[in-house]
Amino acid sequence: MTTNLLDLDLEGMAAFCEQLGQKRFRATQLFRWIHQKGASDFEQMTDLAKALREKLAVSARITGPKVVSRHESTDGTIKWLFDVGAGDVIETVFIPESDRGTLCISSQAGCAVGCRFCSTGHQGFSRNLTTGEIISQLWFAEHFLRKHLGRDERVISNVVMMGMGEPLQNYSQLLPALKVMLDDHGYGLSRRRVTVSTSGVVPMIDRLARDCPVALAVSLHAPQDALRSDLVPLNKKYPIAELLEACTRYQSAAPRDFITFEYCMLDGVNDQPEHARQLVALMKTHAANGLSCKFNLIPFNPFPASGLVRSQMPQVMAFARILMDAGIVTTVRKTRGDDIDAACGQLAGDVQDRTGVDQRMAAQRQGMLGGIKVVVLSKDAA
Ligand code: SAH
Ligand code: SF4
Repeated sequence: MTTNLLDLDLEGMAAFCEQLGQKRFRATQLFRWIHQKGASDFEQMTDLAKALREKLAVSARITGPKVVSRHESTDGTIKWLFDVGAGDVIETVFIPESDRGTLCISSQAGCAVGCRFCSTGHQGFSRNLTTGEIISQLWFAEHFLRKHLGRDERVISNVVMMGMGEPLQNYSQLLPALKVMLDDHGYGLSRRRVTVSTSGVVPMIDRLARDCPVALAVSLHAPQDALRSDLVPLNKKYPIAELLEACTRYQSAAPRDFITFEYCMLDGVNDQPEHARQLVALMKTHAANGLSCKFNLIPFNPFPASGLVRSQMPQVMAFARILMDAGIVTTVRKTRGDDIDAACGQLAGDVQDRTGVDQRMAAQRQGMLGGIKVVVLSKDAA
């Protein structure tokens, strides 16, 4: 069995080169060919001796993801579906903005956490992705986009682990992938431009703080345990107080950074002024211990099996206002890629449930108040 070089971080690549009887610095050369130039064939690597290229051709490969489809939204968002075998499909989404290009990456096929408002959660867990399957989403998208957009320089400036799956329940495969993202010989992204989003796997938040303190987003969704346990079942294992203590510890490893709390706005469930006031009180308590945070309110993207409804925009704004008046930086997430079903929590839903697509899209359109679909709030802008 040949080694897929996309499975290796620089350290792994160096070890692989040694096995081949090569000097470790060859790893840097290989890394740059693969990640910076997008090479998928050893013959392209013209600064490597022919004998080495032949050796590599029999012992290694560079196998990227198998594309099922590509959808482009009118707003420039691009969504790919990748076949990862045995009927599993994962999704990757590129979101262009004026000052950045963000890639949303999947970490698992399905998810075991089972959040009520998430279509991936409703699908259940299939399997962990390998390091190669995680990093190759970036490898593929970056080099595809350079060609597609006719650009020589880097297109993707930010990565968010917010696709399918709970990244911190696939830690051993995630960590080398993060290292490749940050490596100067890989993608050279600064750790503030790589975000791991988690539903709150407390011990792994501590591990990440030690191993690779990238930006952390925590999916909070409720100000008290009973409600959060109902929405995010993992809360029964790691309740809010423990989670926020882990966030505070995380910040000592990543000083000057904020923790971003994501909060999916569900009509009549967690979107009342009372919930916002409870959040303010909660954050005040933990701020005293050193936690600094911002909030990202996500209008719920409905899907039929959830039985939940997107909060009305005035409700979202009133909620944001309470947080902002208490001095908490708050943004309301823009809805992107609506027309291609690329929004949060809908990932790969259309493969598993083709029949639901039209219904879902109709529901989303109804959910958009009077055509208001892009709202960004911050203390400065408000
Ligand atoms: N498992 C990780 C990362 C993937 S989910 C986590 O839960 O953080 C990425 C984000 O999308 C999370 O904040 C999640 O709460 C949100 N999300 C999931 N389903 C959604 C939906 N239907 N509408 C809006 N946001 C959703
Ligand atoms: Fe899993 Fe995140 Fe979806 Fe919850 S929101 S089911 S943790 S992917």
